[in-house]
Amino acid sequence: MGRMIVFMGPPGAGKGSLSQQCRAHYGWKQLSTGALCRKHIIEGTSIGKQIDFAIQSGKLIPDDLMVSMVKDWLKEHASADESVILDGFPRTLRQAELLTDLLKKEMPGYELVIIKLAVEDDVVVRRLGGRAICKNKDCQAVYSLYELSSLAPKVPMTCDLCFSVLVSRADDESSSIRERLRAYYASTDQLVEFYYVQGIEICELDANRVPEQIFLEFDQKISAQR
Ligand code: AMP
Repeated sequence: MGRMIVFMGPPGAGKGSLSQQCRAHYGWKQLSTGALCRKHIIEGTSIGKQIDFAIQSGKLIPDDLMVSMVKDWLKEHASADESVILDGFPRTLRQAELLTDLLKKEMPGYELVIIKLAVEDDVVVRRLGGRAICKNKDCQAVYSLYELSSLAPKVPMTCDLCFSVLVSRADDESSSIRERLRAYYASTDQLVEFYYVQGIEICELDANRVPEQIFLEFDQKISAQR
C-alpha cells in the first residue's frame, strides 16, 4: 500500500530539503505545491497569471484552484504501490477535507501519514534569509547560501543537480515572510484539530536542527510505522 505523506510546517521549516532527501533515499515522488505554482508562473499559463500576485505577496491561493491542481498532478504521477510526498499541501481546513474525500473516493489504496516540522520563528527567518532555489522550473532544488550549511551548493550559485543558476525566491523578502508565517499559524490549529478528530496521528519532528538530523529522526519514525 502506498503512503501519502503530508509535510506540514511553516516556510523555511525544511519541507523541501527533507523531501529532497526522501527522494534520494527512498525514491519517493514529491509534489511541492509551491514549486507547481511557481512553474505555472514561469510558464505564463492562465493559472500562473491568476496566482502571480498572491504568491509574490505570500498569500495562499484559492482552495478550489489548489485542490484541482493537486488532483491533476496525482492523476498523472501517483500510483497506489508507491509513496508520494505532499510538500505544502493541505494548508487549510478545506484542502484537508477535500484531500480526505479524494483519498476515500478515488484513491483508497493510500494510507495518509502526517508529518509536522516544528521550528522556531527566528530559525525560519534566518534560514529564509540565506535560501536560494534552482531557477530551472522543473528542478527548483533548495539550497542554503550559508557556506557552512550542508545545503550549500558545491559550486557557488549553481545547482548541483542540473547546473542551472540559483536565485532567491521573490516571496523570501522579509515583508512576505511575515505574511506567510501568519497564514501558516492561522490555519494550522484547524488542521491539527481536523486530523485529531479523524483519529490520524500527527508525527512531529524537531526541525530546528540541521537537515541530516531532521532526516534521521524522520527515517526512524517512518520505519517504526511500517
Ligand atoms: P511554498 O513553496 O510551499 O513556500 O509555497 C509558496 C507559495 O505557493 C505559498 O506562499 C502560496 O502562495 C502558494 N501555495 C503553496 N501551497 C499552497 C497551498 N496548499 N494552498 C494555497 N497556496 C499554496
